Order: sequence, then C-alpha cells, then structure tokens
Amino acid sequence: MILFKHVHELKNYIASERLAGRKIGFVPTMGALHQGHLALIETCRENGNLSICSIFVNPTQFNDPKDFQKYPVTIEKDIYLLEKKGTDILFLPSKEEIYPGGTTGLRHYELGFLETILEGKFRPGHFQGVCQVMDQLLRIVEPDHLYMGQKDYQQCMVVKKLLQIIGLKTVFHACPTVRESDGLAMSSRNTRLNESERINAVTIFKTLSYLKKNIRQGDLSGLLNNAKNLLIEKDFKVDYVEIADAETLETVNEWNGKQNVVALIAAFLHEVRLIDNMLLHP
Ligand code: AMP
Repeated sequence: MILFKHVHELKNYIASERLAGRKIGFVPTMGALHQGHLALIETCRENGNLSICSIFVNPTQFNDPKDFQKYPVTIEKDIYLLEKKGTDILFLPSKEEIYPGGTTGLRHYELGFLETILEGKFRPGHFQGVCQVMDQLLRIVEPDHLYMGQKDYQQCMVVKKLLQIIGLKTVFHACPTVRESDGLAMSSRNTRLNESERINAVTIFKTLSYLKKNIRQGDLSGLLNNAKNLLIEKDFKVDYVEIADAETLETVNEWNGKQNVVALIAAFLHEVRLIDNMLLHP
C-alpha cells in the first residue's frame, strides 16, 4: 500500500495508473475502520479497480463540536487493516490539503427536500459539510467507481445528487450494511459505548426488525409508536423513527402494501448518537 499525504503526489500517481489502463475505485472514510469499511474496500478490489481509501475526519460535517472532538482516531490500526486487505492506496490528507483556503465561505449545494428531513433536519449543516468534503475528494481522485455504505442511507442519496450537481460520471455503489453478530450495525461510534450501552445498542436493530415483521397495509402511526417505545424503554433518546419511500425518502404514514419503503432510526444512547436503517419492502 502506498500512503499519500499530499494532493499533487496522489493526483500524479492516479494519472499514471489511469494512463496504464487502470480503473479508479474510491472508498472515502473518517477512519476508526471496522469490517463495514473493509467490506467496501473488498468490493472495490473485487471489481478490479485500483483501490483508493481516504481517511479524513471532516470538521465541516460535525454540527456538534463535542462529537468532532470525541470522534475516535486509530490511524495505526487503520493502516494495518488496510494493508492486510490489500488496499492499493491510502490518502491521508491534512485539513490544509483538503481546505487550502480554510473552511469559511465554502460552496453551498442545493440539496432541496433531502436536506430538510431526517439527518438533514436533526443535524443542520451536516450534509453541506458532507458535500464540501466529497466535492474536494472527488475532484482530487476523479474515481470511476465510488463505494459507500447503505448504513448511511440518506448520505448515499445526497452524494448521488452531488455527483449530478458537479457533473461527474462516477458510478455510485451503495454497499450493504455490515453488522455485528447480534445485529448492531458496525460504526466507528460504537467504540464510544460502555459495556451496558453496547448491550442496549442492539435495540435499534431489534426495532427495525420489529417494523419489518409487523408492517401492514394502512395507517402506520400505531406501529411507529410501538417502535419508539421499544427504544425509550431501553434508555434511548429518539431523534426519529420513520418509514419512508425507499427512493425519495418522503414520509409514508399510510402504506399501500406495494410501495418500496425503508425504516430509518436515529437515537442517542446517552452521549452517543447511532443511526441505522432497514428496507421493509420488498
Ligand atoms: P465513515 O467513516 O463513518 O464516514 O464511513 C465511511 C463509509 O463507510 C461510508 O460510506 C459509510 O456508509 C460506510 N460504512 C460505515 N459503517 C458501515 C457498515 N456497518 N456497513 C457498511 N458500510 C459502512
């Protein structure tokens, strides 16, 4: 694995590989890597790309400064895991490499409805930050293929929209959520849970599974209420439990029994905010 810290060196290397006929695959991350991230690398490699992983904890996407300060950093372990996985390139830029002009006055992206709901509503400015860093990274790497996790369902939709806005032809791949053996979605933030919180955390997955098992045609308010209570009983502070159209993310209150729908949850377990989702139908 080659480690690049500087944009111009990375760009030169990518240009030479492209000239040699390689396709470029990209997996952007914020580090504290786990099997979910590594599964993205694996898919990227299996598709025959030159595999590029970036690790950059992007300050502009944290609406809560405490969350940014406490974001786990495990860079040596990350390098070890990436190397073991056969990753070709790790891009490890400084803040100055990504934002040479600083982080004020960065571009604003017209995300419309997508930014007003769910994560957009509860984390104001978050998706602008995601677009700002992804815009920079995508212009540096210019990947043929981009691999991101369905775990961040709304983020996948935002980044697909960003690709349209900035006019890149990159093929977007949304990869399945990798879970712990009890069902908890893997997340860098899980490392911040203490032992009893970790045991409780699986309630999010259980609640999603409850929704999938019990959804019926008609009014969904009773079902959603029960779901919320499952979380509250286990000490969660719920931001949202929603069932939405799987393509548009518009809220579905009344289900016609046919529409493709996804359930999405965001909730705090004390200090730690966790998100997860599950396709309910089909
Ligand atoms: P992050 O480092 O949390 O910004 O995540 C980097 C990428 O990994 C994003 O595309 C995430 O959606 C993806 N990811 C995070 N957790 C998982 C998981 N459990 N399964 C699959 N992909 C994941």
